[in-house]
Amino acid sequence: MEIVTIPILKDNYAFVLVDRSRQQATVFDPGASAPVAAWLSENNLELINIWITHHHRDHIGGIEDLLRRYPTAIVSGGANDRGRIPKQHKYLNEGDRLTFADQTAQVFFIPGHTLGHIAYYFPPTDNQPGELFCGDTIFGGGCGRLFEGTPAQMLGSIDRLRQLPDSTRMWCSHEYTLNNLRFALTIEPYNIDLQNRYHKAGINRSNSQPTIPSTIGLERQTNPFLRWDIPAVGLAVASNNFVETFARLRGRKEQF
Ligand SMILES: [Zn+2]
Repeated sequence: MEIVTIPILKDNYAFVLVDRSRQQATVFDPGASAPVAAWLSENNLELINIWITHHHRDHIGGIEDLLRRYPTAIVSGGANDRGRIPKQHKYLNEGDRLTFADQTAQVFFIPGHTLGHIAYYFPPTDNQPGELFCGDTIFGGGCGRLFEGTPAQMLGSIDRLRQLPDSTRMWCSHEYTLNNLRFALTIEPYNIDLQNRYHKAGINRSNSQPTIPSTIGLERQTNPFLRWDIPAVGLAVASNNFVETFARLRGRKEQF
């Protein structure tokens, strides 16, 4: 599967799935239309799907303009986001499946950042890792804010995602990695994998390269928001209860 990262707005990413044989494309979370439309037109691709993870403006702001250019594109998003995503055609629930370029994505219902948040997951094939489009749930080295959900909901959603194979590539919607890793180092200053990742991310960003995609394996090693059950993380926030540990991490990050 060819996946292209398009920086939009201040620090968002829209991702485009490309099917060169049919000259078609699917876009995830177009918070703005112009950079996406320009790339599609340069590459002579027709947009046929717009797949949305959640209703926030920086994920949906480009939908209407893209539909003016590509009127037959189908807009899909979570069933719980009904009425909050412009021109939504398909209302997705846990377990639904969507196909593009002969590959099938599964829909995961992962409330926490918002109550209607979904992820799209292409399982691995013989020669490709799995691909996870998780919106604002897990970020590189961090996680989304709890705008609508509770810590227990977010922990449950992240727990599910962290059980995917380590090789799964994780495409999240913001470039927050470097700052997230700075925070992570305050929680686990002696985590060597985290120190190495911070070093590499610094080089990437100083060359204006994205740090995305990450992998589930790397997040499990270095992201405190996937590590609530690691003793050093609980100790850092003086908690021995997983939900409390997660909530305290989130609280500390808000203050960071
Ligand atoms: Zn959001």
